[in-house]
Amino acid sequence: MARAAVQRRLSWRLGEVAELIDETPRVRSVVLGVAGWPGHRAGQHVDVRLTADDGYQAQRSYSIASAPDTPERLALTVERLDDGEVSPYLVGELRVGDTLELRGPIGGYFVWDVGMGGPLLLIAGGSGICPLMAMLRHRAARGSAVPTRLLYSSRSLEDVIYRDELHRLMATGKGLEVFHTLTRVQPPEWPGYRRRIDQDMLAEVTWPPDLHPLVFVCGPTPLVESVATALVQLGHEPGRIKTERFGPTGG
Ligand SMILES: Cc1cc2nc3c(=O)[nH]c(=O)nc-3n(C[C@H](O)[C@H](O)[C@H](O)COP(=O)(O)OP(=O)(O)OC[C@H]3O[C@@H](n4cnc5c(N)ncnc54)[C@H](O)[C@@H]3O)c2cc1C
Repeated sequence: MARAAVQRRLSWRLGEVAELIDETPRVRSVVLGVAGWPGHRAGQHVDVRLTADDGYQAQRSYSIASAPDTPERLALTVERLDDGEVSPYLVGELRVGDTLELRGPIGGYFVWDVGMGGPLLLIAGGSGICPLMAMLRHRAARGSAVPTRLLYSSRSLEDVIYRDELHRLMATGKGLEVFHTLTRVQPPEWPGYRRRIDQDMLAEVTWPPDLHPLVFVCGPTPLVESVATALVQLGHEPGRIKTERFGPTGG
């Protein structure tokens, strides 16, 4: 990549908040208009920098949840960690019309576009759905029929991010199957899984390794590590498993 392009990508730019969408009681999407946005690939992230009145700065990474196909509306989806420094501000304080400093897009490994084909196996825990949603939105925007399965672990039904949109995408999107597991609280007669993702669940949901699915796993570090290990034990090629770790705790 040309030096000028790298410098453009890594310089801070301003995004203006165009819309705020409450996704769950703890999660909000921030839709930004970013002048001069260079475009991105599904799966990439940005760095967001906040500056306090006294000049103190804090910086965190957030995946881009919107598809590359809608660059004029760049969406980040943020989960509030109650003892966190940055996420409570983004989820609770930010208002439409405010500006945020951000730079990116960043990352060239955890990315998928329709040209990469499939079958596509997406596995998420909590806000780890965000970069995978960019892939699903991109797949839908391109009318792709690449066989795709999403296994998504949430604490409870009300914690499922993008619940309605996932349902809609599954209803209309050719070849998309979505499997939920609710680890803490399940509604009565819940038909889905009721435990943390384990090897037996992966064996039921995933395609056999000889179909060589392309796998993306994203979420809290312990989930990502245990899922990647279990997939390899099931015979999936390590080189086809891409992972993104969001944070140190299990949530
Ligand atoms: C590449 C990348 C992409 C990311 N994309 C997203 C995204 O799309 N949406 C999103 O909500 N977050 C995302 N994150 C996590 C995000 O960068 C922050 O770590 C998170 O918002 C917490 O920041 P904070 O300042 O609120 O908490 P901090 O002040 O940093 O931490 C507060 C407490 O929470 C713990 N903690 C920190 N991070 C996490 C975490 N992720 N999960 C559980 N506990 C944690 C810390 O150990 C500490 O105890 C991403 C991280 C990476 C590396």
